[in-house]
Amino acid sequence: MKAKKEQAKQLLYERKNFWKEASTEEVKRAFDFAVPYKDFLNKCKTERETVQWTEELLKASKFKSLPASKQSKRVYSVFRNKTIAMAVLGSEPLSAGFNMVAAHIDAPRVDLKQNPLYEDKSSATACMKTHYYGGIKKYQWVSTPLALHGIIIRTDGTILNISIGENEDEPVFIIPDLLPHLARKEQYTKTLGEAISASNMNLIFSGMMEPKTEEKEALKLYALQLLNQRYGIQEKDFISAELELVPATPARDAGMDSSMIVSYGQDDRICAYTGLQALISAMENKPKRTMIVYFSDKEEVGSQGNTGAQSVFLQDFIAALLAHNGESDSSSNLRKTFINSRVLSGDVTAAVDPNYPNVHELQNAVIFNYGVGISKFTGSGGKSGCNDANAEFVAEIIRIFDQAGVFWQMGELGKVDEGGGGTIAYILANLGAEVVDCGTGLMGMHSLYELSSKADLYSTYAGYQAFLISQ
Ligand code: MN
Ligand code: MN
Repeated sequence: MKAKKEQAKQLLYERKNFWKEASTEEVKRAFDFAVPYKDFLNKCKTERETVQWTEELLKASKFKSLPASKQSKRVYSVFRNKTIAMAVLGSEPLSAGFNMVAAHIDAPRVDLKQNPLYEDKSSATACMKTHYYGGIKKYQWVSTPLALHGIIIRTDGTILNISIGENEDEPVFIIPDLLPHLARKEQYTKTLGEAISASNMNLIFSGMMEPKTEEKEALKLYALQLLNQRYGIQEKDFISAELELVPATPARDAGMDSSMIVSYGQDDRICAYTGLQALISAMENKPKRTMIVYFSDKEEVGSQGNTGAQSVFLQDFIAALLAHNGESDSSSNLRKTFINSRVLSGDVTAAVDPNYPNVHELQNAVIFNYGVGISKFTGSGGKSGCNDANAEFVAEIIRIFDQAGVFWQMGELGKVDEGGGGTIAYILANLGAEVVDCGTGLMGMHSLYELSSKADLYSTYAGYQAFLISQ
């Protein structure tokens, strides 16, 4: 009987629940790890803020910006303030291959239009026109407090950083939703996707005007006067601005046991943060292989542009790293370097939601608290647009995770033909590297309140760390 039980244990595969199997020490570490993570989420609500925060941490950890003195084994490069790559050089030549965790730091949001401000006579308010960014469900962004983040480049070229709505004493902004009493025709007869139209997502900016004014556009003028007094800007300056509306609410613990975190922007800053912390904690280990962490921008809109993963930035960074390490930065050596390299495409995946288990095929879905999720492929339909990671590489990653005692699970994004999604995995695999998707499962991805588990957050960190230092 006992032998049979033992045999079944050997033959059957079962993923492990972190809370059930982890040591008391590990549980404590998982809770401790979540504290500064929440702080990071609150400070980094845009790609620019994430780059800035990351650069400060790197500087404090003795990283040098490239080009740097040849002695520096810790180097990084920022490009156009929206993307950053960082490396800890190994003792082996870089052309023998690096280990890289790649995550993206942009998140779905609502941007202000380039000429946003107008006076709305019907409501007697000054409003701002918006244009959403990435895959949002529009109904989630109305009737919720929003903060305004971003930059304005004034006509004289000076840069103004904006952040309004994060502190208790600062105002927040609202895109009002229609009251249910009057929504019968405007909304209830429509589909979920159509009920809130993008052109109805104007933000109430202000409502006052100068006393005794005779001005025609007194509301708009008052708003501009206010902006001019506070920031020295004029209406024209909006044209050269990037202003993003993000949820004003901070990251918080969730659940009676506080075992979860609810926050905006965990797609994909959870993988960015865990990748960065894994690198920082592994850097003292004197690794043989070079360890790299890369944060890309524009993933939510297709990774194009000069800060997206499809740009030349990453290749340029690796070329600069080769030169820094005294190796040839020829295009053939750069190609060879990528071909010898291994990448974890760190992006979040969908964890099973108790309200919608039917969109998953449960045997192949990521479940909260069972560790970091590995996805052999993403894409939609017949794996369309995916990077189908090679079985050899998947085996390597599992070996690394098992040896380090990392809690992990294999999961697809959803049921076949249910929908789909992509990551930057295929872009990096196109360069010749071995790449597999590996990230944290979230509930409510792309919403204002994405939910993660502290067990999975910690397991993602532990997995990235084991991978980065692996041979
Ligand atoms: Mn993502
Ligand atoms: Mn996403």
